[in-house]
Amino acid sequence: MSTMVQNYVGGEWCGVSHSETLTVTNPASGGEIGRVPLSTGADVDKAVQAAKSAYPGWRSTPSPERARVLFRLKSLLDEHKEDLAQLLTTEHGKVIAETRGEVQRGIENVEHACGIPSLMMGDTVEQIAEGIDSASWRQPIGVFGVITPYNFPVMIPLWFWPYAVATGNTVVLKPSEQDPLTHQKIIDLVEEAGLPPGVLNVVHGGRESVEAICDHPDIAGVSFVGSSKVAEIVYRRASAAGKRVQSLGGAKNYMIVLPDADMEVALDACSGSIFGSTGQRCLAGSVIVGVGDAHTEIRDRMLDTASSIRLGDGLEEATDMGPVISAAHRDRVVSFIDQGVADGAKLSLDGRDATVEGLENGYWVGPTVFEDVSPDLSIATEEIFGPVAGINRARDIDEAVGMMHGSLYGNACSIFTTSGKAAREFRYQAGISMIGVNIGVAAPMAFFPFGGSKNSFFGDLKAQGKDAISFFTDQRVVISRW
Ligand code: NAD
Repeated sequence: MSTMVQNYVGGEWCGVSHSETLTVTNPASGGEIGRVPLSTGADVDKAVQAAKSAYPGWRSTPSPERARVLFRLKSLLDEHKEDLAQLLTTEHGKVIAETRGEVQRGIENVEHACGIPSLMMGDTVEQIAEGIDSASWRQPIGVFGVITPYNFPVMIPLWFWPYAVATGNTVVLKPSEQDPLTHQKIIDLVEEAGLPPGVLNVVHGGRESVEAICDHPDIAGVSFVGSSKVAEIVYRRASAAGKRVQSLGGAKNYMIVLPDADMEVALDACSGSIFGSTGQRCLAGSVIVGVGDAHTEIRDRMLDTASSIRLGDGLEEATDMGPVISAAHRDRVVSFIDQGVADGAKLSLDGRDATVEGLENGYWVGPTVFEDVSPDLSIATEEIFGPVAGINRARDIDEAVGMMHGSLYGNACSIFTTSGKAAREFRYQAGISMIGVNIGVAAPMAFFPFGGSKNSFFGDLKAQGKDAISFFTDQRVVISRW
């Protein structure tokens, strides 16, 4: 069955102004499961006008009432967790344990936003001068645009819009056109939870709708997550149009294994990080650096583990790794591997010819491992976003950290060690925003900021945590004398 995705504007499902659509597929079978419309600037404008009209009423709704809508949504999401996870596996491909985890991580953001009356509190100081007091209020700003990627189509929209609406703003969300079906179900739950019409609007599409959001004069701010190339374009274009922007980009994450590491912990964490979600995570490890004697052990054990990973339909509990999102993305990942081989890197495990019996039209790439990758090769510098690992060796921790510092990205990194001193020094020197100590996927929970540095992030306030409240509000300071 193929679902026709629709825009959601002013509390109504509606079509768009022209008939061009893209196909949504099940990446495990290659079969069509939906069609998504491509919204134009006029469709974006219609959604912005709905959000603008809803803003005064929603802003004046008391914050505990706004929170109550989110409490109801949280319960509904809990109730529908398994259906959402199954649909998510069907349109994204990642295995069911991972989609259950993703839905849970999304719910945690709704949960966190439920605390909005406390989270929005301002500051007061009495007697800042003779008979004068001062106080600050956090106020919403207006309409926000939220533009999200394909790899976490449930969780990433929930990094933003619950905080935007909890603080009293209204939103136009533009989900990824590659897997828009699960968030469409979430909108049904949002309606059931009682969010008033126009507070959250959804437009589907690609570049044209993103550009219209960046340029629209009635949008006050934009939250974006995607590849670094587009993150930078969106950051520049939307900020040039006078908006506040937080724009999260791609990654190339290093994992450093010291000789004193617990190798069982390091192996589990490195293989889970690199091959989980078929490598399509901004927190996925992509380069392991084994220091001294750790190199041979982690390499041999990684190769064993990677060779035993079972590919298949993510709905089957026995599957370890699903497909990548599309045929085009599979071809892109394979072309990186081809380039690595052409550049002379040692390919120790080759996933290019992977297939799954009965699902030959799925978008498969098997676990792939390169060794001793020279730092100037494209497989060392660029984000591949697939199940491809490089394993390098370093004499000591300084050499390993030096390799990591050579990367243009700064999203996440990990160290594996039993030395508190080495871990502390690593944290101090890393210069990277999300750091794992004996953890392979250093994912901050909802109450901490999520976002990188260097080419992985454009802006200053990150997703989630206190930054989300600051991003979606302006502080208004009052100085009073009576
Ligand atoms: P993408 O950049 O292709 O698309 C992201 C969004 O931008 C989508 O909504 C898409 O429709 C839109 N878009 C695509 N091309 C555009 C263009 N030329 N102009 C304007 N808009 C455009 O990213 P993706 O492939 O969907 O997602 C994967 C990327 O997202 C990876 O690079 C990954 O590292 C990154 N990501 C980063 C984080 C983070 O926290 N930093 C989290 C998840 C994903």
